[in-house]
Amino acid sequence: MQTEDITFKIIGRDAKKLNEFQKLHDGCLEGLAGDRFSYSFSPTSLGMAITVSCSCGQKLYLGNFLDHDEKEIDLSKYGPLSKRDLENKKFEEDVLRILQMEDPRICAIASARKQTFDMIYFFAMGVACHSDSRISKSVLYSYSLDKNHHETKNYTGTEQENIELFFKYFKQKIREEIEKYDCENEALLKKLSS
Ligand SMILES: [Zn+2]
Repeated sequence: MQTEDITFKIIGRDAKKLNEFQKLHDGCLEGLAGDRFSYSFSPTSLGMAITVSCSCGQKLYLGNFLDHDEKEIDLSKYGPLSKRDLENKKFEEDVLRILQMEDPRICAIASARKQTFDMIYFFAMGVACHSDSRISKSVLYSYSLDKNHHETKNYTGTEQENIELFFKYFKQKIREEIEKYDCENEALLKKLSS
């Protein structure tokens, strides 16, 4: 199979942004192919949107039509990502995946079944397996052990009450976690404030 060469031009304000972004990421490691930056393209009804990704994980979105209201680019948002930043990003995405199960409609679309407590609980456990320990620490487990090593059942209400208890506990623990760092994920902050 032959791959065609792709040529593209980045002009105007986008070129300035890209230049500043590249300077900011001068110290980042080069990727496996020897390129620090990779580009991906998404056609939109208004034009081509270009995403520039640095090897550190930071992304810059280009497409002058996307931000005609934006005056200058806020460089503080586009700096190199540390390992810790990347962990927090992944953590926030995982939290959002669990929180979206709170919506019965999304739950039904994701699983093609009616929302149940078990569905949410096991989904969260699955996410926790592939996430850092902050997720599993934020889940209220089915059983707790008291100081005499006796098991206590935590979910003893109706289906709906158990779902509410799960999310109340989860959100409270996640709020405590994101207070420990400067979380700027607006989608997450909005969900946690509701
Ligand atoms: Zn970088």
